[in-house]
Amino acid sequence: MKNLKLIPILAIFAFFFSCKTTKQTTTVQKEHATTSQTEAKKEHKVHWTYTGETSPKYWSNISSEYKDCDGSAQSPIDINDAKVVYLKKPNSLNIQYHTTKTNIVNNGHTIQFNSTAGNQVSFNNKTYQLKQFHLHSLSEHTINGKHLPLEVHFVNKANDGTYAVVAVFFKEGKESPFFKKFLEKLPTEEGKYTEESTFNIQEVLPETKQFYHYNGSFTTPPCTEIVTWILLNDTKTASKEQLEKLNHLLHNNYRPVQEINYRNVDKQ
Ligand SMILES: [Zn+2]
Repeated sequence: MKNLKLIPILAIFAFFFSCKTTKQTTTVQKEHATTSQTEAKKEHKVHWTYTGETSPKYWSNISSEYKDCDGSAQSPIDINDAKVVYLKKPNSLNIQYHTTKTNIVNNGHTIQFNSTAGNQVSFNNKTYQLKQFHLHSLSEHTINGKHLPLEVHFVNKANDGTYAVVAVFFKEGKESPFFKKFLEKLPTEEGKYTEESTFNIQEVLPETKQFYHYNGSFTTPPCTEIVTWILLNDTKTASKEQLEKLNHLLHNNYRPVQEINYRNVDKQ
């Protein structure tokens, strides 16, 4: 079983997530990389991280499977409001998220809420099924050069294997009822938390009328360039304390912004 192989990684992760000084982090990071790379070879999935020797700037070199990380249409990017294009014929977006069972996974890179079937999004009349949503702190995309404290990615997959990811930004403000409900239940190390009870995914969504759109990639290896990005303009809020707790759990799991190159960002 995969789980047995993960035991040494879990132990190191437990230490990694609990340690704060730079010196400790560097040492642990090296051990972590070595152990996991040995494990990963067996699974044909090479280990990557946000810091140290397998951090974002090395992703395209650590495995031939990750060569797209060096591509020309990568994500995240900086959204520069001065350069955004307003289309004559706006893109159409219809988010149909309802309820899901509670199935939360800490996979060592992020904390992910898996969605039960039946939630979907339509973008320009193409339908994508919601698979999961997960958290990044700080935000991966920047707006006019600035990070927000938290970005949630709703990962939706179409039948043809392409993806639409809806991004929701959180800023500091009123306490989030959603995180109030789940913050203490989030797995602090690799593992799962499940409940039979359901919750409404709309609790994590702001207004969806205005959004930025561009074409890009996964923000984690293998960085495949098959993602339609939809970044909602309106934000949600969480309290300072909630955002600090989330950042501590997620440990700066954001990829730095990539070159926009030939691409346009449009907004409606
Ligand atoms: Zn993400």
